[in-house]
This record gives sequence, C-alpha cells and structure tokens, in this order.
Amino acid sequence: MIRPMTCPICDKELPPEINGESMLFPFCSSRCKQVDLYRWCNGDYAVVEPMTIEHLLEAEQAEGELFEG
Ligand SMILES: [Zn+2]
Repeated sequence: MIRPMTCPICDKELPPEINGESMLFPFCSSRCKQVDLYRWCNGDYAVVEPMTIEHLLEAEQAEGELFEG
C-alpha cells in the first residue's frame, strides 16, 4: 500500500490534484512552496521551528485569499 504524500512544510496530506506533475509538488499549496523558498533564501532551513496551530491558521487564511481571486 502506498502511503499518502505529505507536505514537507505543514505535514498535511497532499490534495489529489498535487502529484509529481504539479508545479506545487511536493507542497500542498503555493503558500507552503513560498515558505520553503523563503527558508532557503534565508539560509536557516536547518533551524526550522515546528509549525504551530497559529501558523497553520495563518497559512489557511492566506490560501483562502489566494484562491478567492
Ligand atoms: Zn503544506
């Protein structure tokens, strides 16, 4: 059995539309992809703080804004 892929940023299961051919892969959303890029740009990828519930809520709000337009 194949385990569902999870987002390396927020650890949520990837939605079905995100697969190896998606531009967002392996992230669940553009938000998480940006978080990843941001971390690399700041050179602090190795000292990632665990996501808190506040972070997740923030991310979901941001996603809602992105997808509304
Ligand atoms: Zn994610």
